[in-house]
Amino acid sequence: MCRPGSPAVGSLLRPPAAQRLAWPRRSLWSFHIAEVRRSPGRVREAREPAVRASSELAMHLAIYAERPDVGAIVHAHPPAATGFAVAGVAMPAGALAELAGVIGHVPIVAFEMPGTVALGRVVADALQTANVVLLANHGAVAVGTTLADATNLMESLEQAARILVTAHILGGVTELGHRDVIALERARIGGVRPRSAGRRTGDAGGPER
Ligand SMILES: [Zn+2]
Repeated sequence: MCRPGSPAVGSLLRPPAAQRLAWPRRSLWSFHIAEVRRSPGRVREAREPAVRASSELAMHLAIYAERPDVGAIVHAHPPAATGFAVAGVAMPAGALAELAGVIGHVPIVAFEMPGTVALGRVVADALQTANVVLLANHGAVAVGTTLADATNLMESLEQAARILVTAHILGGVTELGHRDVIALERARIGGVRPRSAGRRTGDAGGPER
């Protein structure tokens, strides 16, 4: 789901399920997009085209409200990354250069019922210090300046999760040293930065359930 234009008068767009898996490898056309117009005090789905907005609309709205720097949000249930959310196992930044240098800190938020305001609240709160969040027993959320940024971040998260599982099978994760993690975090470029970026520098992190 992305936010074009001014947050005050903008609309919230979501590709339909049929295209979510293919994008951006294939074309995304205007008729694939559900538009949610927002005016003071109310949110409603557009009737044309007949594509429904995300069932997690409340979560998307909560994130946009708390992160004005975010222009797009991707919510998905990638199997390997979601496995970490189900197991309550953190993805330590020092385990992989991409985790420290691209993805950043990955908090795991406690389970809340999908589609609820409560879920939106905990996810938006966790995104104050991260650009990617794992949802316990549910899935993941990635944010970015553009839809491509958020999508790339989600794909990087899933790739990192697969690598960590492979490393575990092969005998365990050998983490980078503290100085290397800090250097990678400082070299991180592009995309949006959470408001408190750097506060967790060097924090390997533990389950935050
Ligand atoms: Zn979901």
